[in-house]
This record gives sequence, structure tokens and C-alpha cells, in this order.
Amino acid sequence: MKTKGNRKTKVNIVTLGCSKNVVDSEVLLTQLRGNGIDAVHESKADDASVVVINTCGFIDNAKQESIDTILRYVDAKEEGIVDKVYVTGCLSERYKTDLEKEIPDVDAWFGTRDLSRLLKQFRADYKQELVGERILTNPSHYAYMKISEGCDRPCSFCAIPLMRGNHISRPIEELVLEAKNLAKNGTKELLLIAQDSTYYGLDLYKKRNLADLLKHLSDVDGIEWVRLHYAFPTGFPLDALDVMAERDNICKYLDIPLQHGSSRILQLMRRGTTREKTEELLQTIRTKVPGIAIRTTLIAGHPGETEADFEEMHSFVEKSRFDRLGVFTYSHEENTHAYSMNDDVPAEVKQQRADEIMELQQSISLELNQEKVGKTFKVLIDRKEGGEFIGRTEHDSPEVDNEVVISASKEYLRIGDFANITITSATEFDLYGEVQ
Ligand code: SF4
Repeated sequence: MKTKGNRKTKVNIVTLGCSKNVVDSEVLLTQLRGNGIDAVHESKADDASVVVINTCGFIDNAKQESIDTILRYVDAKEEGIVDKVYVTGCLSERYKTDLEKEIPDVDAWFGTRDLSRLLKQFRADYKQELVGERILTNPSHYAYMKISEGCDRPCSFCAIPLMRGNHISRPIEELVLEAKNLAKNGTKELLLIAQDSTYYGLDLYKKRNLADLLKHLSDVDGIEWVRLHYAFPTGFPLDALDVMAERDNICKYLDIPLQHGSSRILQLMRRGTTREKTEELLQTIRTKVPGIAIRTTLIAGHPGETEADFEEMHSFVEKSRFDRLGVFTYSHEENTHAYSMNDDVPAEVKQQRADEIMELQQSISLELNQEKVGKTFKVLIDRKEGGEFIGRTEHDSPEVDNEVVISASKEYLRIGDFANITITSATEFDLYGEVQ
């Protein structure tokens, strides 16, 4: 197929936002190539005739980054570097009507469930036979696996259901087929992602079926690590923890965004839980899966948050001693439930509170990391950087958690391989070690 510039179609896919967008871009890449269309991901070469920008519409900063990227490619089109600019993903899903008027030079806008229509732009068809196949855009030894789309939760601050729609679980058979294909192509680590992974199966199997899914994926030959992200505290399927505890190849790791530590704010956030119930759940998780690393995310500055509420969150973090923690400052998002509330916490106070929590977490993380000195861990080698190999233990997810640094002057390691590493020193966010 030829584009306006009469040059052969070559598509460059640009991904913004979260790992779920990465998977969507990989599915698009696979479908385009499956239709014989030349397509690449995040190419820096100016040789693509068409750019597809997969946007993020989560909170202010992310939205701004998406708009800046669109404008950059619209300028490139003006300069004749590209012939067509298509925009898809969450920002487009959420603001299509306004954006069409504001940035008329974009050739077409697509939603988050619009793959077939996007493919039509290239006279391509959605190939069902490619389900379960996926070209990866990150190092092939690990792969994100989206187990469901959308979310049915009513969290006050969150615009994701507006962009991703209701919760839809993917069938276990389809996920197992995908895992087998990925393992055949060298994937050893599966990172399970969703908006709410603990809701898995409620729609499709009329029960929370995460435990079953974990068993099936853990049985796939070649998969050495299955890692669980985006768990939700309320209605947590405890049987999933039993599977995690009994299966060696399910990482002793749990990413569970908890959002706050004050019961009053958790109620305002419509999280359906309290501080007491959350602490009980954390206790149960740590009892059922000894040595598990828990990652969480919190929000500072939700409407109505008082100094006392913040103190509650601070003491919650102090007491819970999370292994990994991230804090967002509240973003007042249109059409969310919280948008009807008064955004009464000043921006600088939001930031100050977030900084205080991260400062506290830094000291906790340092203490927990120092306890690892002298111990040996199975480490997956992700890359080589300068004179060092960089890897992760089962307690660390790519891009967001700690890394293990091994000097390349002493050791030779292969990227994508596991190695047993004895930790020799530690900082807040990194471990240093040698091959055992
Ligand atoms: S569970 Fe997550 S994605 Fe769903 S509404 Fe709540 S915060 Fe948003």
C-alpha cells in the first residue's frame, strides 16, 4: 500500500503510558505485520510514512505528554517527514470530540477498543488466528500479559473506567496459548496486568478465578516466573495466595495499590475497605506467603484530606513497612466521582505530603535492602550497562522496582539468563552482588 507521499507504507507505533498500553501496541504491531504491513515500534529513524500514537489519558502530566507527542508528529507531518498521523489509546478515547477540533491535522482518532477500525485504515483485517501471538517490544525474556480489560470499580479519583470501559476477563485457554507462544519465543517471566487483576473471572466464570489462572500459567513449560500486578484489596481472592505459596515459579511478589491509610479517606475514595481491614489483609498475605515482597501505590491530597488523615497515612506506611511504594499527588479529573468534590488540598501541600511519604519509604527500603546483604538470590539478568550487568530478584518488577547490579569486569552473564547472586551491599533502591 502507498501513502500520500506515494512511498511504501511503513508504520511507526509510539507508546505512552502504562504496561497495558505496551501490550495494546504489541498486539497492533503483530496484527499489522501479520497483514504484511511494514511496522516498527518507537523507531527513531524518520523513515515511517505513518505514525500511530498510543496515548495515555490518566492524569494531568500523562495527558500533557500525550498532547506534546501528538503535536510533535503533526509538525513532522507539516514538514513532510510523515504522511499520516493516527492517534489511539486512552486520551483519544476520553477527549476525541474536543481533540478533533483542537488538532485537526491528525488524520484519525481511535478509542481503546477500536483495533479493527484502526487496521482498516491500512486495508488490514483483524486476524483471529494471531490471538496468542505477540511481538514483544521489551527484552523478550519477560512479557506483560493483560489478563482482562476495563474495570467495574467505583474509585472516586479514577478516570480509567471512562477510558477502558467495563471489566472483561480473557479466557484462560487464550491466556495459556499466549503464554505457550511467548515461552516458545524465549519468555521466562510473565507479568500479569489488568486494571484489577483480583476481579479476574467474575464476569466470565461467575467467580473470582485468579487462583485457577495462576495454576494454568504456572504449568506452562519454560515459564520460570509469574508475577502478579494490580491487585485490589476488597474481595481479595485468598486462594490465589495459596497457589502463590505452593508454586516455586510464581514470584513471591504482589503489587496491590492501596491508595490511602486513613479509613475516612478510603471511604471518600469509595474503596470499599478500611485501614483495619487493609492491615488484616496485609497480615494474611504475609502469613500465607512468607517472604513475599509487597508493592503499593498511594495518593496524597485527595479532596477532604486533612492533616490528621495524612498522619494516618504516614503511620500506616511506617507500620506496614512495604518493600516497594510509589505515591501520586491527587489529580482532579473530570467526570470522576471526586470531581464533584472541592479540590481543597493546595498543590504544594499535596506535593509536600507525597515527598514526606517517599522520604519515610526511602529509610524503610534501605533497612529492608540492608537485611539482604550476605543472602543469595535467583536473579534474572535484564541488560548490560557500561561495565555492569543489571538484573532483578523475584521481588522486583521491571522499570518500577529495585535492581541488582553485578560488575561485568569479574563476571560474564547472559542477558535473559538467571544467575545466583550473593548480595554484598545495598542502597535504598539497588542491591550490589557477585555470582555465588
Ligand atoms: S480499581 Fe483501579 S482502575 Fe479500577 S477504578 Fe479503581 S483505581 Fe481505577
